[in-house]
Amino acid sequence: MPRILREPDRTGHFGPYGGVFVPETLMAPLEELDRVFRAAWRDAAFRRELGAALRDYVGRPTPLYLAERLTRELGGPRIYLKREDLCHTGAHKINNALGQVLLARRMGKKRVIAETGAGQHGVATATMAAKFGLECVVYMGRVDMERQALNVTRMRMLGAAVVPVTAGQETLKEAISEAMRDWVTNVRTTHYVLGTAFGAHPYPLMVREFQSVIGREARAQILRREKRLPDLLVACVGGGSNAIGLFHAFVGDPGVRLVGVEAGGLGIRPGRHAARFAGGRLGVLQGARTLVLQDADGQIQDTHSVSAGLDYAAVGPEHVWLRDQGRARYEYVSDTEAVAGFDALARLEGILPALESSHAIAWLLREAPRMKKRDIVIANLSGRGDKDVQQLTEWKSRR
Ligand SMILES: *Cc1c(COP(=O)(O)O)cnc(C)c1O
Repeated sequence: MPRILREPDRTGHFGPYGGVFVPETLMAPLEELDRVFRAAWRDAAFRRELGAALRDYVGRPTPLYLAERLTRELGGPRIYLKREDLCHTGAHKINNALGQVLLARRMGKKRVIAETGAGQHGVATATMAAKFGLECVVYMGRVDMERQALNVTRMRMLGAAVVPVTAGQETLKEAISEAMRDWVTNVRTTHYVLGTAFGAHPYPLMVREFQSVIGREARAQILRREKRLPDLLVACVGGGSNAIGLFHAFVGDPGVRLVGVEAGGLGIRPGRHAARFAGGRLGVLQGARTLVLQDADGQIQDTHSVSAGLDYAAVGPEHVWLRDQGRARYEYVSDTEAVAGFDALARLEGILPALESSHAIAWLLREAPRMKKRDIVIANLSGRGDKDVQQLTEWKSRR
């Protein structure tokens, strides 16, 4: 296999993707963030502080768990789950929120803002803001506030202001635009804690580095347990942060196949899914050049997924680059398949996965029976499903 390129250039281009496409007023703050992040990442004291909080507060390392009944049921490879659902607050998002809040403190900023879709990133940011005594405002689409009501309550209990966004489709894309507007206005006092490996440089690189602890741990854990590397990694892809967090430590290992699973929703027709690799074209959205779901005139298409966290029109630029290099593959599963993935993990393993993570499980339900028994798979269980219980109850009552 040719050598895989995986580092962006100084201005955040992952090959032809990524970059910085923002209003002039945000150029200086993004450059400052890039500088501060790079310095912090090289600073042993920062890394110690981050590592201690990941251990004592987030609860890392998270277990790598052999799902024996799921493995037996599918009759294929040995399936391990990387248990990000056991992180404090219930998803991988806190790995990144912690890192960025530590950076905000380093920059002397007393206020943080965030966007959120499923609410997990909002909860993670509100949590870190409470721990470090910062003011916190979270922007959330009105539709997402309804389907993730539990997380709205959690954020408010943590002391954050949750601002409903009523523009457009009233979901994640509009929430990001609103957060960017706030940041432009308040940039001197405020850090924008972006929740995924997306947006203008340095966010895709920075979020990847904060999430790459997932793959570093998983690599050491599987080597200890199986004395060899896995054959395949699978993770769901919204913006792409839990997937790149798991993949990054393995990108240089040609024997480890990488699979990202997008939201196929109701089928690959405009407005009914969020599978950017299946239905997207190259474009610019919210700061980066990447694959975007858009119509022939470049209007951003509506998206749909049963899981709010995957319901977004664009994907992190690094994933498109990995796809182009033949290093990773991106596929999709439908809403119905994702719910079947949820049910399977609940009944076979006693774990309620987030509907996002259920997409990765659903892909295994479909593909694992065709794989070799001696193969080893690691699936990223990006979060827990408590937040989805109410919505799933309604979903099932409509069938
Ligand atoms: C936000 C979220 C996702 C999707 O975001 P990525 O950046 O693609 O990881 C996946 N799973 C859970 C549990 C989430 O909260």
